[in-house]
Amino acid sequence: MAKDEVLECSFCGRKKSETDLLIAGLDAHICDKCIEQAHGIVMEELAEKNSSSLSTELILKKPKEIKAFLDQYMIGQVQAKKILAVAVYNHYKRLLQPTSSSKEEDIEIEKSNIILVGETGTGKTLIARSIARMLNVPFSIVDATVLTEAGYVGEDVETILTRLLQAADYDVAKAERGIVFIDEIDKIARKGDNPSITRDVSGEGVQQALLKLLEGSIVNVPPKGGRKHPDQKFIEVDTKNILFIAGGAFSGIDKIIGRRLNRQAVGYGASIKEDKVDEENILQYIIPSDLKSFGLIPEIIGRLPVLTYMHTLDEKTLRAILTEPKNSIIKQYKKLFKMDGIDFSIDEKALQFIVVKAVDYKLGARGLRSLCEAILTDAMFEMPGTDEKTLRVTKKYAESKIEKSTLKRLKAV
Ligand code: ADP
Repeated sequence: MAKDEVLECSFCGRKKSETDLLIAGLDAHICDKCIEQAHGIVMEELAEKNSSSLSTELILKKPKEIKAFLDQYMIGQVQAKKILAVAVYNHYKRLLQPTSSSKEEDIEIEKSNIILVGETGTGKTLIARSIARMLNVPFSIVDATVLTEAGYVGEDVETILTRLLQAADYDVAKAERGIVFIDEIDKIARKGDNPSITRDVSGEGVQQALLKLLEGSIVNVPPKGGRKHPDQKFIEVDTKNILFIAGGAFSGIDKIIGRRLNRQAVGYGASIKEDKVDEENILQYIIPSDLKSFGLIPEIIGRLPVLTYMHTLDEKTLRAILTEPKNSIIKQYKKLFKMDGIDFSIDEKALQFIVVKAVDYKLGARGLRSLCEAILTDAMFEMPGTDEKTLRVTKKYAESKIEKSTLKRLKAV
């Protein structure tokens, strides 16, 4: 049968002979041109949906609500929470504002990338992660220590965005409004306050390379990261709306701040004398120029305009961290034991003992977890599957387990 001649595209009416391809459905046909056109429409619709869904997907709360949310997961650090709440609020307000070309709307709100200074284990990562969780945006953590200038052994700065892309399931639009936490930013400080004469591939060079990411530009990101996959196709990512939060311990910066405060105290207008410096928490006086003295280049400091600090955790805070946050360490162990039908409890004195040890180890809240692990590993190994259904950890029990563990050696540090 010469049936072919009568076949035509049900959408545009082209005869089969006028098309390159005609695909048959149940009761209809579609030609290659209509497929292409339909594909274009689908893509356009999707893109529109994506951008309009930004405001619905992104759960933007007011600064006070942001702080209240953080309070559930984080003890103390009131100042940092406040400053971050405002910075994050402004950042996403900027992002949600309709792009208008009218004259009066010409005021461009700049990005408010953040830099957090505080000892290890004081909650820098936690605060950044909690904010991302609250906003429902992709979040990734990168370690600045692995970064080197392009062409040297190590990771190129572009790979910072690879993780974010992965966290966003390669949805570029989603990644472009995510949050990146750059840990150990202090490790790429240049050595000393003077510009280096010799090449400093992991210091100033990396800072220079980071600049363009922080300020907002279109970056070619290797989707699989690294240099191990040389043939991978780059994905273009615009960093304009990505919020960068950098964190670092900046060990020794207290001396820089102290020296500066002293200098101010002897100069004219020595108001600090009257205000009395709180020597215990000297970080609270940090200003951008201290970061410069530490070895960050001014351009980087300029692109991380929101500067705040984390308090060193004292015993009272550490004690609260053990049990109070929504998913506190002790609550987590309770749940783990409960899954085996074991009723787990811990005495107040044992908790105090853990806190004192954590202060000893100088690992901040991070020490709490290692200590609990050392105390409870034996029980978590032995008890499941036995008839023992209660575990009460006393101070004595805790002491004996720490005595046996390798953690004990940490004390010598
Ligand atoms: P940092 O990034 O400053 O080194 P982290 O954010 O990784 O520290 O914190 C280490 C651990 O201590 C995490 O498990 C975190 O949940 C906990 N932690 C730190 N500070 C606090 C805090 N203020 N409140 C509750 N938990 C905390």
